[in-house]
Amino acid sequence: MMASCERTACVAAVADVAPAVSPRRALIFLGPPGAGKGTQAKRIARKLGLPHLSTGDMLRDHADRGTELGLLARPIMEQGGLVPDEIVLGMVAERLSRPDCANGFIFDGFPRTLPQAQKLDELLQRGPWGKPLVVHFVVEAEDLVRRMTGRRTCSIGGEIYNIHDQPPKVAGRCDVDGGELIQRSDDRPEVIRERLAAYDGKTKPLVDYYRSQGVLLDLPGGANVEAVALTLLEMVETGASPA
Ligand SMILES: [Zn+2]
Repeated sequence: MMASCERTACVAAVADVAPAVSPRRALIFLGPPGAGKGTQAKRIARKLGLPHLSTGDMLRDHADRGTELGLLARPIMEQGGLVPDEIVLGMVAERLSRPDCANGFIFDGFPRTLPQAQKLDELLQRGPWGKPLVVHFVVEAEDLVRRMTGRRTCSIGGEIYNIHDQPPKVAGRCDVDGGELIQRSDDRPEVIRERLAAYDGKTKPLVDYYRSQGVLLDLPGGANVEAVALTLLEMVETGASPA
């Protein structure tokens, strides 16, 4: 009894001096389009006070500010080309060096390829973050097709609904502004199946890479946004899958 009290006191004393072992807060969300990573990333970013990063935002920001990287990227973007990794990674390195990323960040939609993942790892090792925590949103393809074909977008304000999971109060009309709800052409089943197949092919090596490093957790991405959010939060706070 005595020994265990002493040990507890000792741990408490250490905790006073050394920072508590901080959970890994370099979060990377991997998952197919429609798996809900964007929604969850926004929620958990708010909850934990972490910046929600996307390379799309970075590219637009650099192009708008006319930085060196932005000037290199702009003509490629304007022609609809793929901005090379050196440019994207330069922007990522610059973004991570800003103070708001010191305690962590959430990457949604990046990295997309194995070389990008390896470069990002180098950046993380050099900074205060160490190993990332990679959350892999796992959803059955047919669930995704169902979810994505149910998506409707408001023609006025751009609000997003789902006729299955998040229907508007009045069918076909936006709750906020009464705008007509439309189905975007890339939310059609055949387009979605093609996108999912392409996604799987490209992402498999990335999932394998992170899994082999022991930093990847599978998150079953069901339709219930609240339930997924709770599971996700527990994963992030414990660094493990909930039992
Ligand atoms: Zn609307």
